[in-house]
Amino acid sequence: MLGGHQICRADKNHAEPNQQRQPVFQEAAHFDCRASVRGAKIDGVSQKRPTNLLKSKTRNLNSEIKSPLTFRPIFMERIWGARRIETEFGKKLPPNVKIGESWEVVDRPEAQSIVANGPLKGKTLHELWTQDRQSIFGNVAEAPRFPLLIKLLDAHEKLSLQVHPPEQFAGKLGGEPKTEFWYVAAADPGAELVLGFREPIKRDQFESALREGTAADYVHKISVKPGDAAFLPAGRLHAVGAGNLLIEIQQNSDTTYRVFDWNRTDPATGRPRELHIEQALQCIDFDDVRPELIEPKGKLLIRNKLFEIQKWNLGSPRESTPLGQFAIVCCLTGQLACVNVDLAPGEFFLVPAQLQDRQLKPLAARTTLLRVTIPL
Ligand SMILES: [Zn+2]
Repeated sequence: MLGGHQICRADKNHAEPNQQRQPVFQEAAHFDCRASVRGAKIDGVSQKRPTNLLKSKTRNLNSEIKSPLTFRPIFMERIWGARRIETEFGKKLPPNVKIGESWEVVDRPEAQSIVANGPLKGKTLHELWTQDRQSIFGNVAEAPRFPLLIKLLDAHEKLSLQVHPPEQFAGKLGGEPKTEFWYVAAADPGAELVLGFREPIKRDQFESALREGTAADYVHKISVKPGDAAFLPAGRLHAVGAGNLLIEIQQNSDTTYRVFDWNRTDPATGRPRELHIEQALQCIDFDDVRPELIEPKGKLLIRNKLFEIQKWNLGSPRESTPLGQFAIVCCLTGQLACVNVDLAPGEFFLVPAQLQDRQLKPLAARTTLLRVTIPL
């Protein structure tokens, strides 16, 4: 068993325009995780890191990379969340809190994935990115942090209508650009996503709809079922409807502008939550009318300069990526293994660029997975 998840009781607002989402507390907790390492003895997790790991610059890491890396999930309390990350994916959540997000792969100032297995156990994703780039990630483009952020998202209630800034506005508005991808892992009957507008609309028309509380009449709602996927380029108006359990793969950014909160009040304060209309109106793409869900092209779901995502039906062993290119793999259904690390649905591992044995092997019938890479 791998132990030790973190929980972050973040601000009850989903997001702030200036990224004020520092967790109120972040602590090690000894909850079990189903990701298992076969044939290896795993001891309890300590937050203290062995000091030899901190001297990694000087050693030859490649010979030590013998298996994929798993990370400890970081659970985020959210007013709109529930317990589905535990009931559907078997992750042991802290009791009596509504968990909306599990951050599975993250390198941000306020949250760090920590390696949970092998000789790199205890290292943060940021340490891997800054100290072991070539061995773990191969020839990816230079960036101050690992450029992707991967989460599970349990929307028991619908989330606010929101937008993230495109690159050309992000700097001016003091935020970071964010493009996203959603995979629907589970959805209640009637579950919906909101993507873009229903009809062509002008900015001032939408602005008055926001003032009058009628913005919901103008958005484009799509019914979804498990297996559907959506692309959300920065600037696309969007919301997650109630009853969706999503895998969210996104640019490493936490800038969200809340456009409309469905005329709800925050039960904690009895007041509406803060909106960021000024910033949002500068970012929203008003020509984005009736965008559709992703139509897969064979295995390929989406490829852009930020990420490539493929969905595989893993009927027989297959190389994750060529030697020299890393991949992040998420099990969707069934069970799979690489070297001695097994993955169950909702679990992730990172196949390092220099791992020699890169075969993904199905361990159960109807095993499916998402493979995430960064295009070179
Ligand atoms: Zn979003």
